[in-house]
Amino acid sequence: MANLSTEGPWHSRSAAATLEALRVSRDGLPQQEAARRLAEEGLNRLPAPAQPSLLRRFLRQFHHLLIYVLLAAAGVTALLDHWVDTLVILAVVLVNAIIGFLQEGKAEQAMQAIRQMLAPRATVLRQGQRVSLPAEDLVRGDIVLLEAGDKIPADLRLIECYALHTQEAILTGESQAVEKNVDEVAEKAALGDRRCLGFSGTLVTSGQGRGIVVATGASTEIGRISGMLAEVETLQTPLLRQMDVFARGLTVLILLVAGGLLVFEWMVEHYAFEFMFMVVVAFAVAAIPEGLPAVLTITLAIGVQAMAKRHAIIRRLPAIETLGSVSVICTDKTGTLTRNEMAVTSIVTSHHRAIVEGDGYAPTGAIRAMTLENTAEVRIEQQEIFERELREMARIAALCNDAALHEEEEIWRVEGDPMEGALLAFAGKADPTGQEKLRDWQRLDTLPFDARHRYMATLAQERDSQRFVFLKGAPEALFPRCKTEGDSSGRDNQALRLDHWQDQVEQLAARGQRVLALAIRKVDATAMEIGAEAPDDAILVGLVALMDPPRAEAITAVAQCLAAGISVKMITGDHAGTASAIGREIGLRHPDRVLTGADLDRLDDAALAATVVDTDVFARTSPAHKLRLVTALQTRDAIVAMTGDGVNDAPALKRADAGIAMGKTGSAAAKEAADVVLADDNFASIVAAIREGRTVYDNIKKVISWTLPTNAGEAMVIIFALLLGLTLPVTPIQILWINLITASTLGIALAFEPTEENTMRRTPRKRSESLLGAALIWHIVFVAALFVAGVFGIQAYALDRGYSVEMARTLALNTIVVMEIFHLFFIRNIYGTSLTWKAVRGTTAVWISVSVIFFAQIAITYVPTLQKIFATESVSLVDGMIVIGIGILLFAIIEVEKQLRLRLAAARDEAQRTTCQSV
Ligand code: ATP
Repeated sequence: MANLSTEGPWHSRSAAATLEALRVSRDGLPQQEAARRLAEEGLNRLPAPAQPSLLRRFLRQFHHLLIYVLLAAAGVTALLDHWVDTLVILAVVLVNAIIGFLQEGKAEQAMQAIRQMLAPRATVLRQGQRVSLPAEDLVRGDIVLLEAGDKIPADLRLIECYALHTQEAILTGESQAVEKNVDEVAEKAALGDRRCLGFSGTLVTSGQGRGIVVATGASTEIGRISGMLAEVETLQTPLLRQMDVFARGLTVLILLVAGGLLVFEWMVEHYAFEFMFMVVVAFAVAAIPEGLPAVLTITLAIGVQAMAKRHAIIRRLPAIETLGSVSVICTDKTGTLTRNEMAVTSIVTSHHRAIVEGDGYAPTGAIRAMTLENTAEVRIEQQEIFERELREMARIAALCNDAALHEEEEIWRVEGDPMEGALLAFAGKADPTGQEKLRDWQRLDTLPFDARHRYMATLAQERDSQRFVFLKGAPEALFPRCKTEGDSSGRDNQALRLDHWQDQVEQLAARGQRVLALAIRKVDATAMEIGAEAPDDAILVGLVALMDPPRAEAITAVAQCLAAGISVKMITGDHAGTASAIGREIGLRHPDRVLTGADLDRLDDAALAATVVDTDVFARTSPAHKLRLVTALQTRDAIVAMTGDGVNDAPALKRADAGIAMGKTGSAAAKEAADVVLADDNFASIVAAIREGRTVYDNIKKVISWTLPTNAGEAMVIIFALLLGLTLPVTPIQILWINLITASTLGIALAFEPTEENTMRRTPRKRSESLLGAALIWHIVFVAALFVAGVFGIQAYALDRGYSVEMARTLALNTIVVMEIFHLFFIRNIYGTSLTWKAVRGTTAVWISVSVIFFAQIAITYVPTLQKIFATESVSLVDGMIVIGIGILLFAIIEVEKQLRLRLAAARDEAQRTTCQSV
């Protein structure tokens, strides 16, 4: 950094001195200079926390209770000179560790991808142009624009502040927001008193401002407090934690049973210790769902990736589960249900109405005037008045505005709020020749837009002439600030005729258009501030109506929600008429029943809880209402997904079961409070995420419902043989083989299961529904019993035919594997029939697993070396068919049982529905 001033202290320098020291003008750095500084200073990024090494991650895979038991078993078998057993056990351990390692890698990859998608951005001025860029690319000297909800991207020396407040608790511990200003302070001032600095990582809670970047990356105040950001998130959710605890408890229980079995059979039944030891090891391996937690993690990782592909970025992992059970979606309108591609389509002045034509954000297009009464052409003498009104509107639209329009390859784009972009385009059409002159105006103060007061004001001056306050905002917000008719304004025709304007507002809103009022007020030639108290003697110049069409995909998505038993509620800051019209267009259930923020204020909590269920449109609400609505819905047992974008939406997003922030237009504050960030702000993506959420939950359920009964089946086979004193149908080493081959391959296939056909036709899962409920226990018992019957059945058949014990065991071994495969095909469709072509066709993952197992079984059955190790014999074709037949039989029995169960449930649902309807 040869040519830039070195260290601060920046807080004791004036804004001008800082600009000079960092060699930048108020228009920002030229691109080239910024690029040069970036190359010199490096990225504005905190050093990443150290990752554990690959070796460490691999070794961590051995840190499981079961693995310790297996390693001990390998030691014992080695001492007993059972080398083959030792090798097989070690192979099981190794394969498990490798699979765990790879799965963890995949989960980490999924998390990494998400972190990248959430990389913060900053709005800066470069050569006078407002541009949005990755916060990483900021360099010292960049001028950053700040607004409410932003996270400050680097340490800044503030040069403009309009009621700018930030929350600096992470640095100072002070939870109250502090007001910022541009005045330098003493060099020794404490961190919290450096009001003219904005610190990286702190949040703008309200107001607007500008600052010069004075430190980036590790040199920022936050960068100096190392370790703070070192947290590395792992894939973990309540359900997974619950399963982890369950699996651990089960492991301990099984080990106790195994120990008891060993002592009992050895001491009481006098089995040889060596033999019994191997049997109980095999029993433990068969019964313990060792692969379950890892397979569940991979199921979640796949879910996270699938959601990210559908533009829903999961910030807090439990949200994956919650999304699947959402029963109400509370959504914003603008940009989520609508496209947020705004265009001014008509305007109203005190005597005229006009249609505004044009394409996109291009500031060119005709404005066709007509009188208010009818559509006749405006008379010549009135034309002049209309044109004057138009020029006035253009001036307010352009000067009470923070957006910018750029033309790139003949397409006009907005930098900033699309609605303000549309107003700039309108200004260009309304006063094409006056645009150049607007550059002479200097802004002296700003009252930024805030969803609570719903308007914005600027104080500006043209060269050295008069000063004006320009206002734009929701009509209800501006009308009380404007003069009423009869005031001695001398501009009677522009004074407020309330009923006229209100009538016009209603008419425009009923067409689904957003209506904004534009007003102006002349102020003192020395006025420097708008003042906290907004003026009440402004002159209303006109209304603009903006069109923001609904997204076509939102209409389909709303229909899908209704079919899936999910209600959709629109909570908007917009006018009741506009909200209701858009609600009708996108297919809400009760678009005509609208509650406004004022209505909500009149209802107490109990009354609100009673009305909230049947009302789908909430208009003119402020963020505080969102919080009340979520709470009211939750008292009615709803699982609520709530969207938000502004800084004040954070409490509602936190309170909702699934808080969803807008990725494009949302503030950093909203994103931090949310569980999910929507990369494309699109309502349809919420529905896609819910669908994925349901799929993930189903797949978790499938993995568990496949693993536990299969393990129980294998374990029961051993216990039965031991307790009844029968010949073991499979040897311990064969059981180890089955686990080596199937547990890690078949289970994983289920993690890749696609969404079942009727997923979005089911009602949402109940909050109280438990995975380890009665239904699963029944399934475990039922399937385990069938496994026992199948294995002992084939054993009886073999012995009956006079086959050798080895042959009987080979058949039993293959029967277990075949039954597991058929059980897998059954589990793939828990909510519908498995007897469709689609179900039979399976997925690539399923067929890869089945092929691996098929060849492995062929190998163990027919390859002489393996035959020697595992004591198997070649099976004839007919016997092979019988083994497969047993699998088919198992499939048929459980499928019939499922169909009966589903029908019974459907009949119960139907009965319930008729009772509800007749009530
Ligand atoms: P939602 O996404 O919740 O549907 P919205 O964009 O309709 O939100 P808000 O952003 O809270 O709601 O805006 C509420 C009202 O405030 C708008 O209907 C408009 O009248 C007014 N408004 C919005 N943005 C601005 C702005 N930048 N300047 C002045 N007034 C604004």
